[in-house]
Order: sequence, then C-alpha cells, then structure tokens
Amino acid sequence: MSDFKPTEKFAKSLDLHDPLAKYRKLFHIPKFKSHDCLYFAGNSLGLQPNKTQTYIEQELKDWASLGVEGHFHAKNPWYPYHESLTLMTANLVGAKSNEVVNMNSLTVNLHLMLVSFYRPTRERSKILIEKGAFPSDHYAVNSQAKFHGHDPSHTVLEISPRSGEHTIRKEDLLSLIEKEGRSIALILLGNVNYLTGQAFDLRAISEAGHAHGCFVGFDLAHGAGNLEMHLHDWDVDFAVWCSYKYLNAGPGGIAGCFVHERHGLGKTLTRFEGWWGHNKIKRFEMAPVFDPIAGAEAWQLSNPPIFQMAALRASLEIFEAAGMSAIREKSVQLTGYLEFLLEHFLGDSIALVTPRDPEQRGAHLSYQISGKINGQISGKLDGGIKGGFAGKSLVEELKSKGIHCDFREPDILRVAPVPLYNSYNDVFLFAKELAAIVKG
Ligand SMILES: *Cc1c(COP(=O)(O)O)cnc(C)c1O
Repeated sequence: MSDFKPTEKFAKSLDLHDPLAKYRKLFHIPKFKSHDCLYFAGNSLGLQPNKTQTYIEQELKDWASLGVEGHFHAKNPWYPYHESLTLMTANLVGAKSNEVVNMNSLTVNLHLMLVSFYRPTRERSKILIEKGAFPSDHYAVNSQAKFHGHDPSHTVLEISPRSGEHTIRKEDLLSLIEKEGRSIALILLGNVNYLTGQAFDLRAISEAGHAHGCFVGFDLAHGAGNLEMHLHDWDVDFAVWCSYKYLNAGPGGIAGCFVHERHGLGKTLTRFEGWWGHNKIKRFEMAPVFDPIAGAEAWQLSNPPIFQMAALRASLEIFEAAGMSAIREKSVQLTGYLEFLLEHFLGDSIALVTPRDPEQRGAHLSYQISGKINGQISGKLDGGIKGGFAGKSLVEELKSKGIHCDFREPDILRVAPVPLYNSYNDVFLFAKELAAIVKG
C-alpha cells in the first residue's frame, strides 16, 4: 500500500491491471453533462445493472401474454422463482442453500427474526446493540422489548465507543459480553456500521455470545456484497440485509435473510407463519395446519414480488461471476487508495473516523472535515454557522460537479468506492476535486 502514488497516471495503471475493471460496463453509470458521474453513494443506493430492465420486462411480457398461467409457464415460472436466487445468495454470505431466503424488506425481516430469537425470560431478557446502530434497529428492538412487556431502558443494553473515540474496541465488546452474558437473550450488531464504517469480527462475537448462551444475529445492510462472509461456519444464528445498497437491486429492493440450519431444520423456535412458509408440495391442498419448509424458507409469509426478484437476479449474477473474494480483494486496494490520496491531498483538514485496519472496515470511509473550507475558516464539517461549508452544502457543492457521496448527521462525509463499478481513476479524480473545494 505504501507503493501508492498520487498521480492520474498511476491510478490509470491500476485500472489497466484490475481484473474486475470489465464489470463497470455492466452497470448504468449516471451521467453528468457528457461524462460519467463520480458515484460514491453505492452504500446508499447501488447502481442499476444493464440487465435489470430486460429481466423485469421479461416478467411483464409473460404476465401480459399468460396471465395466471405465468405461475408455472412463464419463461422463468413465478411459483419457484425465488429458488433461482438461492444458490447465488448462499454463496454471497457463506451459507448453505437451506439457510437463506429473499423476502420482504430489512426491518420486516429483522422483526420476524426477533420474534423467533428474542424470547426474554426473567433471568435472560436483555438485547445488546450498538448505541450508534442504524435508527431502524433501535426502533425494532425497543418495540420488541415493549411488545414483551419490558421497559427498553432496562432491557436494551447499548455499547458505545470510549469517550473521545469513534469506534468500539473489540476488547470492550467482548468484556461486556463476558460480564453481562448471562442476562443477555440476544446480541444484535451491525456490520459495517452505517456511520463510522467500522466492521465487527462476526466470528468472535458469535463465539463469545454462544459461550454465554446468547443468540447472536447481525444486520448486514452494509456488509452484504461488501465483505466476504461465512455465516454458516461462523455459527451465526441469524442475519438480515437489504439489497439496494451494495447489492444493486434498486430502491426498496427485496431483502435477504439467513437462519442457521441448526434452527431452520429444528422445531423449537416460535415464528410468525404464513402460507409461503408451508410445505411447497402440499401448499395448494390449503390445509389449515402449518407444515413448515425445512430451512429459512419457512419464515416466508407471502408469495414474493417477482419484479423485485428479477431486479435482484440481474445483480446477483454479477456477484456470482465476479466472486466475493475477488471483489473484496479489489475493495481493500481501492479504499486503501482513497485513504492514501485524501491524506496526501488534504492532510490535517480531514479526520478519518473509519478504522485504518482493512480488517475492521468495508468499502466506505467516513470523514470529519475541518479547517479552511472554500477560503473560509470553519470548525468541523457541520460548522457552517461560522461561514464555511456546512456538511450538507459540501455535498451539494460536490453534486454540482457531478460527484455523489453523502452526508450523515452530525458531521460525517461518507465516501464509498464500490469495486464492481468504481475505478481507481474515479477515486483519484474525486480526491483532487475534494481537495480543491476544501482548500479553496
Ligand atoms: C439501510 C439500513 C436499513 C434500512 O432498512 P429498510 O428496512 O431496508 O428500510 C436498516 N438497517 C441498517 C443498518 C441499514 O444500514
């Protein structure tokens, strides 16, 4: 990494030798004037694969020409359509085929998992989450605690970084589990954290939680399609993720869910049930007694949205072809290059919030920016009151130049170079532009 050079020539030579460079042309890159935007918001909404439209149109055509017959006679019959995504989804997160299913959206899946995996007892009623978790996760666990008649301020245990630090130390997390483990029913953590970019060691957390008899689940909204995972081998109990960020399935895309086969094949868990989780062969016998499918599919409630699955399929095929390990390998380099360039061009005017260790982060980097912004002195990124750019207006300024990244309260600029469609030269051009704006 120390061999990086801050020149366009060097960036272009990295692109020339990049085995994943060919995947960029499989995506629609939004345009600015006549050239491609610099798109670093793939952690918020991933770009559209070229094939998405064709795949959705196929289903529209079959619906128009076949009506209800499409369930079994469409080119890709709708009745088993979700099964065509199973193997690709399993490979993406390191699961067995009977451990994954695409359904609903993330927060819905999280609630369905909490129904099964948060079963508070008198001795063991706590849920451990990050203080800085995504708000929807807080709402979900707080409302589940209330649903079980508990006061969230007693049952929801929040871990925070040490004072003056941005990210949580692994040893602090593990010692909290050690100390409180016997009273914790469920550990629910994210990976990667949406704000700081910190990635946790899922295997170590899973091991530590299980040693104390806790269930361990993960929200992989920023991990799926970003990091290599082995959910089965890591013995994770459950995981949920959305598919519109790194997974490029489009706004509100159908989400994913993992249930370890230990639970999926067992009969001890309570779950909310619906007809799509029922024995497939006997589904249309319309029997009133639920006979669950063996595996994660038993958690399906309704017949799933075909157009959403068609969109997800277009993207998963790209992940399957490229492979998560090659994607991650490029990601470490690409993000490392971004870190190097911003340090080189901006020095002290920016502060990296995301850990420097590639093992503790995914693609995106989060920065606090301070110093002289556009010729004026300001405080942190949100110090616009003093006359500099507020964080939001910095992002607007970038947008006016065809550069997309985002701002998150209170003062964080997030930049996500995505290995499937961002080039090293994108990263170089971004760093130059940001430096020009921030330094004035
Ligand atoms: C994006 C994101 C969500 C979004 O939830 P939806 O139910 O898909 O709207 C939830 N949790 C985390 C950690 C996220 O980053």
